This record gives sequence, structure tokens and C-alpha cells, in this order.
Amino acid sequence: MKKTVVITGASKGIGAATTILFARKGYNVVINYNESFESASLLSRSLSSRGCNVVCLKANVANRLETDLLVKETLHRFGSVDIFVNNAGISYQGLITDTDDFELNRIFDINLKGTFNCCRSVVPTMVSQKSGKIINISSIWGQVGASCEVAYSAAKAGVIGLTKALAKELAPSGITVNAVAPGLIETSMNSNITIEDLNNFVSDIPLERMGTVDEVASAIYFLASDEANYITGQVIGVNGGYVI
Ligand code: NAP
Repeated sequence: MKKTVVITGASKGIGAATTILFARKGYNVVINYNESFESASLLSRSLSSRGCNVVCLKANVANRLETDLLVKETLHRFGSVDIFVNNAGISYQGLITDTDDFELNRIFDINLKGTFNCCRSVVPTMVSQKSGKIINISSIWGQVGASCEVAYSAAKAGVIGLTKALAKELAPSGITVNAVAPGLIETSMNSNITIEDLNNFVSDIPLERMGTVDEVASAIYFLASDEANYITGQVIGVNGGYVI
């Protein structure tokens, strides 16, 4: 039977590249989106026209009822959830003193609570299957911290803590939980960074370039594969050597 993967925030960027990779490899893929209906349905139509089994499901990961429904609807369409990729995320740049409660809550609600919500929604299904793989997308800033991104760094560090704790909790049920921590990747998330700042950043990356969405998707795909069956609770950096 075909395996089913749910990818949150799959309407663009890393999530869309991961969707394309899994769909081409023959998985059933749920393309979760929140606001970008157009991009999600365009991606879905283009993959369906090539014979891939994909479906678009709207859910705001910050809302527990919506993540419960996301899992329920996935089970209804495909009968199982074998892999869950917690990719949905937003960033925010600003001094800590300029970060108001609205931005702080948004950053935590989507990046950290969203990952928690999705895990809590999918775990009962995976436990009853006695199998499953959860892959959470953190960030280098969750590992080493970024100036002017205190809330984002804290939320992404929280994703790493969540990953390690849940890996221990779910290992007896045959479920692995790992994180991918990307470095600077070419997506719309970085579109507000000036060319000068980008060049400065790139000059500090040992591999001397930004990463691509496909390179992050490959790491996610590996962690979801049988080749990674004995890997759990780990944080895989995809960062060109920026954090070693
Ligand atoms: P992106 O191109 O801005 O895409 C972000 C995705 O998250 C979109 O598909 C968006 O969907 C989704 N999303 C946002 N809020 C959501 C919500 N409440 N519910 C469901 N989906 C939501 O960003 P990206 O660069 O691909 O980032 C993907 C992940 O990688 C994020 O977790 C990010 O923190 C992490 N990351 C990125 C970089 C980088 O350099 N790009 C580096 C480290 C880590 P809608 O538009 O449909 O709302």
C-alpha cells in the first residue's frame, strides 16, 4: 500500500519542494496550506496531471481543532498517516524591545505551538499503527540564536526540545521523531533581506552559497525513508557548514 505523508505549509518554499519530491516518489501527499490557496491548488493540479496522488487541505496549524481535522480528513482520504512533516513557519525580525505581544504570540503559535498541535493530533493514529515518522523543521537560529530574531530563535529552539522529548516518548511505539535545521535557504521567507545583508551572510557560510529548497527536501525525504529507521531524536543541519 502507498504511504501517506502530510506536509504543513506546503503551498510554497521548502514545503512545496518536499511535496514535489514525495509525490514523484509515489507517496500520497497532503498539501496543507493556510492562506495561499492559489499556490497550493496550482501545485496540486500540476502534480495530479502527472498522475500523482495529492490533495490540498486547509488548516491553520496554530488552531488545534483544525490540526485534528487535518489528520481526520487525511485518514478519510488515504486511510493512514505514515509521515508528518511540520514545516509551516513564519519569521519576524526586530529588536526584542520592538516585539509586541501580537508578533510574539504569532511566532510562538505558528512555529512552536503549531508543531505541538500537529504532533498531538497525529500521534494517536501513529501509535495505533505502531509506526510513523515525524519530521519537524527547526532552524540554525534555534541552534545558535540570531540577533534581532529572539522570538523566532526561541520558538525554533523549542521545536528542537519538543523533537527530543517526543522521540523518547514515542520510541516504544515504533515512531521516530527528528528535526531538520536549515540554514539560509532561497525562499520568500528571506525576500525582505537586502542583497548586502545576504552577501554578508553568505561570506560566513563555508560552502559559500545559500541552500536550495530541494536540498532541504532531500534531508526530509531521507529521514522519512526506511534507511533512517534507527535515527530518532536527532537534528540534521542543512546549512552549508554554517553551524558545525
Ligand atoms: P515560506 O516560503 O515563507 O513558506 C512558509 C509556509 O508556511 C507557507 O506555505 C505558509 O502557508 C505556511 N504557513 C504559515 N503560517 C501557517 C499556518 N498558520 N498554518 C499553516 N501553514 C502556515 O517559508 P520557507 O522558507 O519555505 O520555510 C519553511 C520552514 O523552514 C519554516 O518553518 C521556516 O521557519 C523554516 N526555515 C526556513 C529557512 C529559510 O532560510 N528559508 C531557514 C531555516 C528554517 P500559507 O502561505 O498557505 O499560509
